[in-house]
Amino acid sequence: MVYEKPLPVINEDNAPYWEYCRSHELRMQKCTDCGYVRFPVSIVCPKCNSMAAEWTPLSGKGRVYSYVVYHMAYHPSYKGDIPYIVAIIQLDEGPRMESNITDCKTEDVRIDMPVEVYFDDVTEDISLPKFRPAA
Ligand SMILES: [Zn+2]
Repeated sequence: MVYEKPLPVINEDNAPYWEYCRSHELRMQKCTDCGYVRFPVSIVCPKCNSMAAEWTPLSGKGRVYSYVVYHMAYHPSYKGDIPYIVAIIQLDEGPRMESNITDCKTEDVRIDMPVEVYFDDVTEDISLPKFRPAA
């Protein structure tokens, strides 16, 4: 089956992030000068301007910082998913990221709800990090 939803645009800078996702690992850049963990991917640390970084593994655990429930498909490929949850996840290690929360009724999602990452293998090359309520 062809995946019809938009896919991430891979470039030289974010390729490692998506390769780790493909291995079902959530890793982000950690500044090796000041220790700040950043996301989205960037070549310079926003805290200290260092370009030195390593791809540090994250726990995949976090909490719902904010969310919306989509009741309308803004792209035709999402028509079968509505209503669905788009959330900002506050990861335990500090960064925030946008993703979907699945395995949760739209009326049950709450701010500060503990969630954990899993990976949705949407194509052969792309695995999207998504979240579900923590066990
Ligand atoms: Zn830094």
